[in-house]
Amino acid sequence: MSAPVRLYATRSSNNPAVTLYNSVAKDVAAEPSGSTPRPQRSKRTQPEDDGGANSTISSVGKSGTGRSAKRVKVERVANGNAEDEVTSPKQEVKSPRPKAPKKQKPVRQSLDTPHPTPEHWKEQYETIKSMRARLKAPVDTMGCDQAQNGETDPKNRRFATLVSLMLSSQTKDEITDAAISKLRAALGGSISVDGIIDAEESTISQAIDKVGFWRRKTGYLKKAAQKLRDDFDSDVPKTVDELCSLPGVGPKMAFLALQTAWKLNAGIGVDVHVHRITNRLQWHKPPTKNPEETRLNLQSWLPSELHGEINHRLVGFGQTVCLPVGPRCDLCELNAKGPERCPSAQKVVNSKNRKTVVMSETAYTDVGPKVEIKIEEDPIAGPSTTPKLGLANNTGADEDVVGIKESTQDALPM
Ligand code: SF4
Repeated sequence: MSAPVRLYATRSSNNPAVTLYNSVAKDVAAEPSGSTPRPQRSKRTQPEDDGGANSTISSVGKSGTGRSAKRVKVERVANGNAEDEVTSPKQEVKSPRPKAPKKQKPVRQSLDTPHPTPEHWKEQYETIKSMRARLKAPVDTMGCDQAQNGETDPKNRRFATLVSLMLSSQTKDEITDAAISKLRAALGGSISVDGIIDAEESTISQAIDKVGFWRRKTGYLKKAAQKLRDDFDSDVPKTVDELCSLPGVGPKMAFLALQTAWKLNAGIGVDVHVHRITNRLQWHKPPTKNPEETRLNLQSWLPSELHGEINHRLVGFGQTVCLPVGPRCDLCELNAKGPERCPSAQKVVNSKNRKTVVMSETAYTDVGPKVEIKIEEDPIAGPSTTPKLGLANNTGADEDVVGIKESTQDALPM
């Protein structure tokens, strides 16, 4: 009969969280009765084959707590040299798996069931169009399209438009316009992808520090410029999904960037003005909760030739007359036409103390981006009667799409 193995626990001098168990073959008879030390941990991890040789079991855990060890290593000791032999796979601490990058969802293009066309939309829209032609709004002179005017290189013109859109969220047009000028000066006279990549973050931040969320936007600009250089040959991409893959760019910016930078009409750019005004006019039933719902509703019934211009018309109207707080219903011609033309009209008191709104008797110019849209015919089904609007670079996933043809006209203010 072989001699029983005894285990002795000692605290590691290198790491107090490690308890070392030494097993030594001993003569039982030499031990006094009842004095056998009992190992207090790592019972489950005791090696099956100790071979009778001296061995050390190291358990790593909270010293003295009696909790089970998480990682166990058995070292055979031979001639004073330790040699790793066994690790328990069950109790190995698993390193967390590296997270796969989040897959970007494609931007939704249409509703399963189109929203019904609002009864009075045409007259309402024509009235707003008439008022807008006689109003000068900040968006007419300081919109995102203005940023491209300071550039000569076509890539830089498109990139400056995108930068302007990225800076414009939560920011007035006047502030965005000034920030673009300051940024251009800080970058040496031109807003380019390489210029943003090479610039210090502090240089960009100082130039744009008047726009909303300027710290976050500084980071977005740097990352977006790097992605444009690495993935898009330092140019603004031509599809909504590619644009939305850039940090800080959402559907509204993507649709507006395509219209202004590439003269492509892939959908309606819905911002807070379009969202608010179309809800005040009760074009959405039930009312929409966010700009994306508004966009999908509008795209389902508004004639596609108006998709490119509605943003500019309603933004200017919202900046001057249909204000977010205290709309100037006293000046609005929709109000004069009766409650069915604007169900949200409010009574305006103290209009004398309000900011003057200048509405000319004659139209300034006809404004609004012009985007030529070509309807592609299905070779089997023939001409489509209810075309859906698709992305410019549609990959073929949607068979019934309207192809977009670039217009030769200059982009008009957004
Ligand atoms: S009547 Fe008032 S709420 Fe209605 S569209 Fe005109 S300004 Fe806006």
